Amino acid sequence: MTRTPILVVGGGPAGALAARGLALRGQRVALIEARSQAHDKVCGACLHPEAVRELDRAGLGQLLEHAQELSSLELFRNARRVRLQVALGRVLSRRALDEALLLAAVHAGVELRRGHSAVSLTTRHDGVELDVRAPTGEVAREHASVVLLANGLGNLRVSSSAGPSASRAAAGSAPTSRATTASRASAGARARRPARARRLGAGAILPASAPGPERGLLQMFVAPEGYMGVVRLEDDRLDLAAAFDAEALRNAGGAADLAARLFARADHALHEFAGRARWRGTPALARPEAPTLQHVLPLGDAAGSVEPFTGEGLRRAFVQANAVVEHTLDAVAGNGQAAARWARTRRELLRANTARVNRLAGALRHPRVVALGVGLASLWPAAAERVAGSLHGRTVLR
Ligand SMILES: Cc1cc2nc3c(=O)[nH]c(=O)nc-3n(C[C@H](O)[C@H](O)[C@H](O)COP(=O)(O)OP(=O)(O)OC[C@H]3O[C@@H](n4cnc5c(N)ncnc54)[C@H](O)[C@@H]3O)c2cc1C
Repeated sequence: MTRTPILVVGGGPAGALAARGLALRGQRVALIEARSQAHDKVCGACLHPEAVRELDRAGLGQLLEHAQELSSLELFRNARRVRLQVALGRVLSRRALDEALLLAAVHAGVELRRGHSAVSLTTRHDGVELDVRAPTGEVAREHASVVLLANGLGNLRVSSSAGPSASRAAAGSAPTSRATTASRASAGARARRPARARRLGAGAILPASAPGPERGLLQMFVAPEGYMGVVRLEDDRLDLAAAFDAEALRNAGGAADLAARLFARADHALHEFAGRARWRGTPALARPEAPTLQHVLPLGDAAGSVEPFTGEGLRRAFVQANAVVEHTLDAVAGNGQAAARWARTRRELLRANTARVNRLAGALRHPRVVALGVGLASLWPAAAERVAGSLHGRTVLR
């Protein structure tokens, strides 16, 4: 068994940026990333202006050198469409963004272990035990003072030997026997809430030759089955990303067919390309907030995911990655309250944007609202641009 003071699970934006921040503060950090090489992710690749600012704050603004300005939005409701001038932020492929962040972490001194997957995590009174599978398939047990859990929507078995307050499963994790009671209780609470259609993420990358929006334009398709966005990336490939209703996805026979159907309804030239593309999926997008476990600090999607295309995903990953550094130093110094304090800080950070995100998520989930918006926007485009700008948290361009 080896011991590393800080282990970060997951080399996405949240994990890579947090690991870098800790290394810059002189900490020894190992970053475990399941994927062995650069890869495309299911994501709209849109960086909200606040996400851009947060990267700047970390001294990494230059990573967006090749990112495109996103200055217009085209909304489709069937064959009706409206185009608005709104400053939406920047676009950069997740392949480029995630790689640049990992490289920045390595430059800061982080030990990056690619192709290694955390398979289970157990909290002990003096730290955390993590079982990690190497690319050879061999599983080794590691011990860390603190673990940053940034594994996105990925699954991890979590258990605790640190007492009842720490006996819940981490977000997205299969509960072990000690975690079962609390998990059932929260599942019961969830079941009493009004039903909200279960959404799954899906995405595809199309070659530069595919017809679609020019650089700087986000096309959004909103339908009862879900919604889908298309942007042109820095290398001119097209990024297609969608949040589809799970049942509609099953009925359509898969993401390719459902996307092709939405494009066909909009009379969009992409309908044939989308039907032939190789789509990748995500687990269910809705996640409850991660429970508090001693010595474990969740962040990014692992701490509870949000509605896609609200610009909140990457913004929150960066904000939390910058903020978690002080809390991690506290935890390493032996402060038993550090994980609980981090949970409170996370909630406060979330609160700042909740109203905007809820308004936007509500609009995306109600195609009739969008249909009405498309109709009104074609009559009063300037007013619609102001509304779209305020939903996104930005003023319009003109
Ligand atoms: C359809 C869709 C569209 C979206 N569009 C946008 C958008 O346009 N703008 C925006 O801001 N957000 C968007 N999001 C949300 C955004 O993608 C996420 O919020 C963001 O990726 C969260 O970053 P993260 O670092 O927490 O997780 P991730 O980016 O998921 O990174 C987690 C990392 O952990 C690794 N990992 C997982 N399990 C393990 C393990 N057991 N061991 C080791 N490594 C592991 C994974 O390989 C991955 O690299 C979208 C999401 C979806 C589903």
